[in-house]
Amino acid sequence: MNNRCITCNKPVNRNKAYMSIKLDGETYFVCCPLCQAEFEKNAQKYISQQGNKRTKHS
Ligand SMILES: [Zn+2]
Repeated sequence: MNNRCITCNKPVNRNKAYMSIKLDGETYFVCCPLCQAEFEKNAQKYISQQGNKRTKHS
């Protein structure tokens, strides 16, 4: 499992992540309160960035 902080893209252990955020059936991890705040401000931006990365590897 490669869980990464949705905001800063640092690898995070899901057990040690600051918190997990569930949206649209997906679970996103953030590493710290700052990343959580940033994610909540720009959730759609980060979610769409992650979706783009996933579809890139063909
Ligand atoms: Zn982070």
